Amino acid sequence: MPAKMMQFVSVEQRLPDKRAVAERVRDFAEIFARFAPDQAREQAARCEQCGIPFCQVHCPLHNNIPDWLLLTAEGRLEEAYEIAASTNNMPEICGRICPQDRLCEGNCVLERGFGSVTIGAVERFIVDTAFERGWVKPVRPLRERELSVGIVGAGPAGLAAAEQLRKEGYKVWIYDRYDRAGGLLVYGIPGFKLEKSVVARRIRYLEESGVRFRLNTEIGRDLSFAELRRRHAAVLVATGVYKARDVEVPGSGLKGVVKALDYLTASNRKGLGDVVPAFESGELDARGKHVVVIGGGDTAMDCVRTAIRQGAKSVRCLYRRDRANMPGSMREVQHAEEEGVEFVWLSAPEAFVGAERVEAVQAHRMRLGPPDATGRQVPEPIPGSSFRLQADLVIKALGFEPEDLPRLWGVPELAVTRWGTIRIDWSTMMTAIPGVFAAGDIVRGASLVVWAVRDGRDAAAGIHRWLEAQARKAEARAPALALAS
Ligand code: FAD
Ligand code: SF4
Ligand code: SF4
Repeated sequence: MPAKMMQFVSVEQRLPDKRAVAERVRDFAEIFARFAPDQAREQAARCEQCGIPFCQVHCPLHNNIPDWLLLTAEGRLEEAYEIAASTNNMPEICGRICPQDRLCEGNCVLERGFGSVTIGAVERFIVDTAFERGWVKPVRPLRERELSVGIVGAGPAGLAAAEQLRKEGYKVWIYDRYDRAGGLLVYGIPGFKLEKSVVARRIRYLEESGVRFRLNTEIGRDLSFAELRRRHAAVLVATGVYKARDVEVPGSGLKGVVKALDYLTASNRKGLGDVVPAFESGELDARGKHVVVIGGGDTAMDCVRTAIRQGAKSVRCLYRRDRANMPGSMREVQHAEEEGVEFVWLSAPEAFVGAERVEAVQAHRMRLGPPDATGRQVPEPIPGSSFRLQADLVIKALGFEPEDLPRLWGVPELAVTRWGTIRIDWSTMMTAIPGVFAAGDIVRGASLVVWAVRDGRDAAAGIHRWLEAQARKAEARAPALALAS
């Protein structure tokens, strides 16, 4: 039945039900429920069906949002799923964890005045429903090819590329140093934003689609890059960025001063039922502790909210700029505040204090000075403003940089940028080495899942074009060789 759209005047913006704070801080389950079918239909029908949909323009995948909103409003969910899946390899994941307030929803024309369409929640609803109703069918390519592609890294960039390459009929092998596929979706992002079963469902789908996983295999250690290249017609590097930025202050080496990803990985592993000695010993467990997290990005938000759930005595987040200038999503800050996190804005650590273990963070107040070349105001310390915060656990969440892959892998010809990210030709996603491509955080620096998916898709397209071109060249050479002999 045709739906009556443009209901934004009479129907208020509504997110799916959010679990009460007292309940949600006791576990690591997602905090948002799923829309009921009527709610999804009603919310989708708020869309204006814009001629130039800014939501779509600002989605890194240019998802056809107006169409799947219309189909949802009409109750044609299977078609809505087909459209959502045609541009996104993990729409149920992006629907959950994209910072929609900065992307699609933040650019919806209804945002000012009426409140944007709740695009992410509808996207998640469509695809969760599709999985439950059996509409998500494994990839069955029209023709299978003999050529294989080796992908290093089973994060969103590698997974998206793998699915696209399977659609073209290539054999696809993904190598990952971890024991589970998913990259940061599994070991970085906590369950209260993205439950692990959602990632496991995607991985199962890829396995059923013929993608083969070689886990516990680190390229550069268990398998050389040269061997990888010998095995496959093309290679995709999608290794992410994992070198933690440090804070250069006295006391950084004290016990109890830990890196964000070590802390989050331990918590995620614990939730998955693994034995984690550093958690069991209390080293990476916030229970009963005064916790201070340094940083203002999404990783810092995940740390503070994890600490709350582990039963910390107090949780403070120290950030050198103010709320308006923090890089993390405003929605995440709001969730953290609701859950009892205290933000100490415009403050930076001077030293971590303690004999052997950390006991306090010595910090000073900051003010925002003139902008730098990027236009961002530079924080500068206010003289004589020192103060102390009690701390038995300090978590450093200051961002990530790429490891030195050319050196680690013994491949100096793999060119990198001045930031250490792999240099690629963005029109093909190929690196300086013919037949070797790269995607995701390792080319962008720490970014977002949706950008990793976009890169993975672009890289798969680049690989396909390159392999086709190689085949054409080989065919052109073959008659010439035959004539010569
Ligand atoms: P990754 O997900 O990092 O995957 C890379 C994979 O490569 C890993 O599995 C790694 O084990 C493997 N690997 C690395 N080196 C080797 C090697 N030598 N041999 C074999 N395997 C190797 N983004 C969002 O959009 N929303 C969020 O809410 C969000 N929250 C985040 C929270 C945290 C704590 C962090 C750290 C990041 C978050 N991000 C979020 C960012 C997002 O997770 C990344 O941008 C995205 O995962 C990058 O994908 P990728 O495939 O490039 O790399
Ligand atoms: Fe919005 Fe992300 Fe979905 Fe794009 S992929 S429509 S940005 S939630
Ligand atoms: Fe609908 Fe908003 Fe996108 Fe316009 S910008 S098409 S109203 S979701």
